[in-house]
Amino acid sequence: LPVLAIVGRPNVGKSTLVNRIIGRREAVVEDTPGVTRDRVSYDANWGGRQFTVVDTGGWDPDAVGMAAKVAAQAEVAIMAADAVLFVVDATVGITDADEAVVRVLRKSGKPVVLAANKVDDQRTEAEAMNLWSLGIGEPYPVSAMHGRGSGDLLDAVLAALPEAPAETDPQTGGPRRVAIVGKPNVGKSSLLNKVAKEDRVVVHDMAGTTVDPVDELINLGGQVWRFIDTAGIRRRVRTASGHEYYASLRTHGAIERAEVVVVVVDASEPMTEQDLRIMTAVEEAGKALVIAFNKWDLVDEDRRYYLEREIDRDLIQFRWAPRVNISAFTGRHMEKLVPAIEAALEGWQTRIPTGQLNAFLGRLVAAHPHPVRSGKQPKLLFGTQASTMPPTFVIFTSGAIEPSYQRFIERRLREDFGFVGSPVHVAVRPRK
Ligand code: GDP
Repeated sequence: LPVLAIVGRPNVGKSTLVNRIIGRREAVVEDTPGVTRDRVSYDANWGGRQFTVVDTGGWDPDAVGMAAKVAAQAEVAIMAADAVLFVVDATVGITDADEAVVRVLRKSGKPVVLAANKVDDQRTEAEAMNLWSLGIGEPYPVSAMHGRGSGDLLDAVLAALPEAPAETDPQTGGPRRVAIVGKPNVGKSSLLNKVAKEDRVVVHDMAGTTVDPVDELINLGGQVWRFIDTAGIRRRVRTASGHEYYASLRTHGAIERAEVVVVVVDASEPMTEQDLRIMTAVEEAGKALVIAFNKWDLVDEDRRYYLEREIDRDLIQFRWAPRVNISAFTGRHMEKLVPAIEAALEGWQTRIPTGQLNAFLGRLVAAHPHPVRSGKQPKLLFGTQASTMPPTFVIFTSGAIEPSYQRFIERRLREDFGFVGSPVHVAVRPRK
C-alpha cells in the first residue's frame, strides 16, 4: 500500500489528525511531551482508496536543538514514504522547527500536502494563508479536533499518493465484499449457484485473498468478487429449535462483513415485515444496498407492471437502492446484477467537496429557510463530509434544528448528489 508520513513539530495536532484520517478515536494517544514513541503505522481509507499512515514519534519540545531533532526524525519517515503530510499549527505560525522540516522535504523531492491545523473557525482561516510563505504550496486549513476541512485535505492527500490497484476492496486490498441475504426460500442459494457457474476463482495465487472458508471468490462481469458467508447459504442448517435465531445472527454477521449487500426478495409472494427488517439492518449497518426481486418468472406478464408499482410503494423508504427483477431459475436479467452492485458501491464511496456542499446548503437555506420558532431561527453555518462508505455529513448550526428540517436536508442532499444504493448520514452540531 502507498505510505503517507505525517510530520510536524510536537503539539501541532498530528495525533488528532491521524485519528481523524483513520476514523478512530482510541488508536493514538495525545502527544505527551517527553514521551518518545516509535513510529506507528495505521491503515486508512478514503474515497475507496487504501493507504498506510505513518505517524512519527513524539519529541521533547524543550530539548536543546529541538529543530534539528524534529528534522532528523522527519527525514527518516519521509524517506520511507510515498507522500508526506506536513502539519503546522496555524495559530502559532512558522517556527524554526517547521523551517527545518521544509528543508528536508525540499531535499527529498517527495510530494507534500501542507495542513494548517487548529483552524477551528472562519477567523483563523486567514492565519492559515500565511503559511503560503513556507513555499511548499497551498496550505489546507483544517481542524483535526472538529473535522473541519479534513475531507478536502484527504482529497489532496489521495491526489499526492500513487494510485493503488483499481477495483479492490479498500479495506483489505482484495476483492470487493458482497453478501447475499434474505428470508429462507427466496432463492439465495439458487442465485449464488447461477452466479458462481460463470467462473469459480482459484484462490491462492491472487494477491490479498486469504479467504475465509465460508467465503467464495467469484469472477463476475470481468472482476473478482468476494461473496461473504456462502457456506451459510449452501449448507442449510435446520435445527428444531432456534434456527431462526441463528439464521438471523448469520445474516447480521454477513452484513457486517460486507461492503455491499444484495437483499433477495421472493417476487411471487407478498413482501413481508421480515424482508423490510433485513433491508433496514443493511441501512443501519451503513452498507451499500441492492434489492433483487427473484422468481420474476413466476409473475404473470400482465401483472408485472402493477407489481412494480406496488413494490415502489412498499419500498418508498428504500427508493435510493437499485432494484433488479431477476430469475435465478431462467437467468432473466442476471446481467443487471453486477452493474447494480457497482452503482451502489460508487454511491457508497461518493465524496462531495466542501465548497460544493456549502454552496448546496446556501441554496437550500435561501429557498427554504428553517422555520422561526419563538423568535429564533437557527442558521446553518458550515457543512463538511466527515467520511465516505457511507457518506456522512456534519453540519454546524447556530442552534438546534428541527428533526423535520434535518430530514429535509437529507432528502435534498440525495436529490442533488444521488448517493445511489447508499445510506446517507447527516449529523447536526449546534454551536453553543
Ligand atoms: P434460499 O433458501 O433463499 O437459498 O432459497 P433456494 O435457492 O433454496 O430456493 C428456494 C426454492 O425456490 C427452490 O425450490 C428453488 O428451486 C426455487 N427458486 C429459486 N429461484 C427461483 C426462480 O427464480 N424462479 C423459480 N420459479 N423458482 C426459484
